[in-house]
Amino acid sequence: MIPAARKITSGASPLYHYDELRIVHLELTHRCNAACPMCARNVNGGAVNPDMPLSELSLADIKAILLPDFVARLKRIYACGNYGDPIVARDCLAVFRYLREHGPNLNLDLHTNGSARKPDWWRELAAIMKQGPHYLRFGIDGLQDTNHLYRRGTDWKTVMRSAETFIEAGGHAEWDFLVFRHNEHQVEEARKLAADMGFREFFVRKTGRFLDAGELETSERFDVLDKKGNFEYFLEQPKNPDYQNPAFGNLELVKQRYGEYQTYLDKVEIDCKVAGRKRKIYLSAQGYALPCCWLGAVFSESSTAERRQFADLLKDFGGSAAVDARRHGLEAVIEGPLFQQAIPASWDRASIADGKLAICARTCGKEFDPLDHQRD
Ligand code: SF4
Ligand code: SF4
Repeated sequence: MIPAARKITSGASPLYHYDELRIVHLELTHRCNAACPMCARNVNGGAVNPDMPLSELSLADIKAILLPDFVARLKRIYACGNYGDPIVARDCLAVFRYLREHGPNLNLDLHTNGSARKPDWWRELAAIMKQGPHYLRFGIDGLQDTNHLYRRGTDWKTVMRSAETFIEAGGHAEWDFLVFRHNEHQVEEARKLAADMGFREFFVRKTGRFLDAGELETSERFDVLDKKGNFEYFLEQPKNPDYQNPAFGNLELVKQRYGEYQTYLDKVEIDCKVAGRKRKIYLSAQGYALPCCWLGAVFSESSTAERRQFADLLKDFGGSAAVDARRHGLEAVIEGPLFQQAIPASWDRASIADGKLAICARTCGKEFDPLDHQRD
């Protein structure tokens, strides 16, 4: 049983109730064949994040957590995640088969770097997904001579073969292109290649990670390290302003209004990206159910002050065991005090020091939101 909260005093509205949920963000695995420098699964493209357990959800886990009647009434499930690529999960195909069986009208989506698995596997995935609405989005950040500079460890020929096979088998593929200085000259060529290959969509992505939030400044460069922590090269922001994250243009306004980032976090109003009508939940590879992937890194509790703050809040309910959907079931976690009161109640606190969740203020503060501006 999930312990009742000790500190709740507010009458804040719940995030949502179990039977209202419409979207599940599913992280099948913490494993990945790549090492993208700005991804939290590794240290600047080098060593694997030492705090990260190599967890994975099996088909049995998914069947126990996402019950058939729950899947049947969802609008969308998408496999993506904080730390892993779903295509390397052992039971990926079996999980998708189960979700499609119980959700014939479900939007069944998957995000990947595409650099793993043989053609037969991709044909099978297409056969499952195309029985209903779906997309498969490949993260391909450049062309043959540049994609590996961000998608470190991927193989161009394998990525192209995966995409061709999936498309030929009737799957709807989309292309996400994350723009840097080293690939900005290739955007239009990649867009044409995507159209020629039969991709349904091509998206230009503008990363929000060239940011020193504490200083309310953008950073021009991001160091890429090898596995021993030695500098290899750096990533740079694109020169073309059309490819830069538009939220960076708000930094000056935020600075004028609040002076310091900490004051911004204390005072900014929060517009939660998953609560209310959005009705979305994140299921981690550990089987933890949390409102969103930004609160999802519960194992990294010692890494930053904002993670320690959320870990302290979780401790009031018994720690991460309180969000363990394998142990309690999804409904019990969602109807428990964390979702129903503690997280939304924190948003009304006067400051971060007073218990307003810093992760929520940073991610969903209304006045500075690089995440919302990453896409075209
Ligand atoms: S492919 Fe995805 S999960 Fe893998 S390192 Fe890159 S961003 Fe992270
Ligand atoms: S970080 Fe907080 S406010 Fe933002 S989506 Fe997650 S729970 Fe909602």
